Formats: sequence, structure tokens, C-alpha cells
Amino acid sequence: MTVASDLGIDTSDIRYQTILECKTRQFLEQVKADQKKVKPFFDLCPRCGHLLDKPMAWNAISRREDVLICSKCGTDEAMMDWAGKEPLHITNWALVGAIADEAAHEFCDIYPEARANA
Ligand SMILES: [Zn+2]
Repeated sequence: MTVASDLGIDTSDIRYQTILECKTRQFLEQVKADQKKVKPFFDLCPRCGHLLDKPMAWNAISRREDVLICSKCGTDEAMMDWAGKEPLHITNWALVGAIADEAAHEFCDIYPEARANA
């Protein structure tokens, strides 16, 4: 159960989707900046949540966002592209879960009337 559904948010609401995407991009910018450090704090693949390979150069750069993802996810993105399938949208990446909760609370603060249970 996600915070969004707990709060009675219609997650297809374009306003919620906009807040979620914006927060996701801000988060990925932080991850990207961190990954450039000698000792990054984020040692997890933002796409699947598993540990990134060491050294960092063994990982892949996502075809969707300019961030490092694990080599398994890099292969998966390549396979999905090859098969002509829709890529896994960044708002569905594993490490974005916490951002989704933040986005849900922010959405309710801005649009309290949009909550089904309000
Ligand atoms: Zn991964």
C-alpha cells in the first residue's frame, strides 16, 4: 500500500504526476552529483535498488537519465529498446518510492480538495 492510496489520491491525476515527476528528477540530479564523488553515498542502483558494481566504472549509464545504473539494468534497458518495448518510467524506479511518498504529501498540502477521502 502506497502513501498516495492511503491518502486517497487518484494517482492518475495529472497534478500529482507532475509533482512526482518533478521530485523524481530533483532526486536523480542529487544521485547523479553524488555518483561523481570519489566515495559516493548512493551505492545503490536507482532503477532496481541493488548494490552498484565496484568500481563504479563497471556500471552502465541509463539510456533514460544521465545516471549510473547497475549493469543488469543497463542490459535490461538495452533489451527493452531492442524489443521496442516501453522503457520503465523513472517514476517506477525502485529508489523513487520514498520520493513518491513525499510527492503524495506535497500534493495533499497543495490540493486538499483532490483527496477522495477528504
Ligand atoms: Zn539495477
